[in-house]
Amino acid sequence: MLQKLQCRECKTSYEPNIAYFCEECFGPLEAIYDFDSIHLTRNEINSRSKNMWRYKELLPLQPQSKIIDLGTGYTTLHKCDNLGKYLGIKELYIKDDTGNPSASFKDRPASVAVSKAIENKAKAVGCVSTGNLAAATAAHAAKAGIPCYIFIPFSIELSKVAQISAYNPQIIKVNGTYDDANRLAAEASFALEWAIVNVNLRPYYVEGSKTLSFEICEQLNWDTPDQVIIPMASGALLCATDRGFNQFNKIGLVNKSKIKISGAQATGCSPIADAFKNKLDDVIPVREPKTIAKSLAIGDPADGPDALKVINNSGGYAESVTDTEIKNAISLLAKTEGIFTEPAGAVTIASLIKLVKAGKIEKDEKIVCFVTGNGLKSPESVKEGIHTIQIAPNLDLLTEKLNKKGEVLNWQ
Ligand SMILES: *Cc1c(COP(=O)(O)O)cnc(C)c1O
Ligand SMILES: [Zn+2]
Repeated sequence: MLQKLQCRECKTSYEPNIAYFCEECFGPLEAIYDFDSIHLTRNEINSRSKNMWRYKELLPLQPQSKIIDLGTGYTTLHKCDNLGKYLGIKELYIKDDTGNPSASFKDRPASVAVSKAIENKAKAVGCVSTGNLAAATAAHAAKAGIPCYIFIPFSIELSKVAQISAYNPQIIKVNGTYDDANRLAAEASFALEWAIVNVNLRPYYVEGSKTLSFEICEQLNWDTPDQVIIPMASGALLCATDRGFNQFNKIGLVNKSKIKISGAQATGCSPIADAFKNKLDDVIPVREPKTIAKSLAIGDPADGPDALKVINNSGGYAESVTDTEIKNAISLLAKTEGIFTEPAGAVTIASLIKLVKAGKIEKDEKIVCFVTGNGLKSPESVKEGIHTIQIAPNLDLLTEKLNKKGEVLNWQ
């Protein structure tokens, strides 16, 4: 059960209310659990509904609180033999979070944060987003029946804005980058007393993503992987993944051995991967991100320094990949495994390919790649790969167009 919030820097304790930084030193607050009170067994978990709330003792809500749940989590862990063979890896898995209610992993943190806002009787919720968090927050706000304010940079994909609009929040497009939108959202959270899920609810928000690690352990039959490869924007997902494995180990549900935690970014916005490669302790912000992986376009990542520490302490890697490598990886994943991802999800696949080529992956490592968002969120990024023929409904015309192998002769 959640015990309190605590400053990560000076360890001052706080009541678990809507708050996110320490009044003594301005350090970030984090959720602290009373692990002695958590008696969660494999059998107990097994008996519960197959969604992220099956681990509710390890999530930061009060036991009696109402949970805003759209059925998020317990997504498929695919054993990817086709792609594994192509890359020369024996045990490759994909954690496919495209299957969540709003089609990205962001439903996990949004479900926790919006539930926490309701627990604290907030009058409105909101978020600042590169697209996916906006859809997830607006969907959960709709279910909860609470007003919702969305801050997005003006440049995000039309298909994402269309999805967000359908949930009917107030959408504020900001002329600037994600970091500019973030500043405005933080000011609004104070001035207007809105509960912004990744600003003043951030200590709770980041906890939702731990459920990815819990599910992976369960789906590997209560084992841990050797390496996970995670896309990074703010770095929150990567840090949460690490905490998830540690907490499952702490309460005795798995015997964790060493897990390499690796992070992936796009070269057009790779402040964390660059710091890793240059062996820096500080993350130098990118002023103007430029990549098709718009979900990852955060130039000044809030959890960047912590993500860097997690990667280094775990013996993992950070890699960055170009837009062309991302597009090729979208296509490779779809045609080998039948999984269609948006660019952010392909960043992990493209990074895996690079790590294999660099000899940094052992062939018998058990690897889990995160695929975090659905391809339908970003159809622009695959439009060059569209190939069709168009003919009259006539069988002779069809057979004329095919070669002996049954392939279409000339795409139009
Ligand atoms: C937000 C997002 C990420 C990364 O999230 P952070 O926690 O900010 O690092 C990865 N993939 C997708 C699809 C996302 O929307
Ligand atoms: Zn402090």
